[in-house]
Amino acid sequence: MKLPEGVALPGGGDSLLAFDVDEEHQNWGALSSLFQRWRASDVTRTEFTKKEIDSARWLEIGAWHHGYPQPAEDVFGYRQATYDLTDWCEKCGIGMKQKAPFQMKGEPKWGRNAIMQLVWIYGELFVTPDVWNRVFEPAHVECRPVLNTKGAELKTVVQLVVQTTASIITEGLPAEQCERCGRTKYLPITRGPFPALRDTPVGSMLRTAEYFGSGAQADQHVLMSQDLARSLAKSGVRGASLKPVVEPK
Ligand SMILES: [Zn+2]
Repeated sequence: MKLPEGVALPGGGDSLLAFDVDEEHQNWGALSSLFQRWRASDVTRTEFTKKEIDSARWLEIGAWHHGYPQPAEDVFGYRQATYDLTDWCEKCGIGMKQKAPFQMKGEPKWGRNAIMQLVWIYGELFVTPDVWNRVFEPAHVECRPVLNTKGAELKTVVQLVVQTTASIITEGLPAEQCERCGRTKYLPITRGPFPALRDTPVGSMLRTAEYFGSGAQADQHVLMSQDLARSLAKSGVRGASLKPVVEPK
């Protein structure tokens, strides 16, 4: 295999080397056991064809991960600042309700991207105001401001407000029940398409009623209609990653 050069990590130590291997690689079996033996962090994802994306009525959307939520005091200071934690369970991560605008360190360094997610906050999307105007406002998706840590509104980023929730078909999905609060969480979907919706939703964006994640991470995933995904693609926005949602039988 030809491997890229490693990336130096802040604080020194061994450099980080990240690369993709197709499971159809002729030596995948041997490689896979080496990765296990080396305790390499092995993350599976499925790449979809344009046809698979274009023919789905709904798509699950993720985006470029850029920066951490603020304030970062005690690492998780953003939780108290951003969420009502009344129904939150520390063990499984379910139940945070947003009560205030998100805070970022400063304006995102967008480069050529125009849609992003904050690390740890995989149920929320952020876009430039221009993209909101051109793509999301016409689709009746609202937005709310994002602040810096001094409370001033940032000028190049807004948060998309996705309030509609819809249930998915959960039969057969690996799940765990929290031993503290008793609520159910589904394991992250890394292989294949996203599970089908139970009902036919109205609107162009929604979040799943179900939570996904492992450990103390829990997110309701965000889905968008094919029409909205198409207008996002047509507007040339970079940074989104789409996963087709299975059609219900
Ligand atoms: Zn819990």
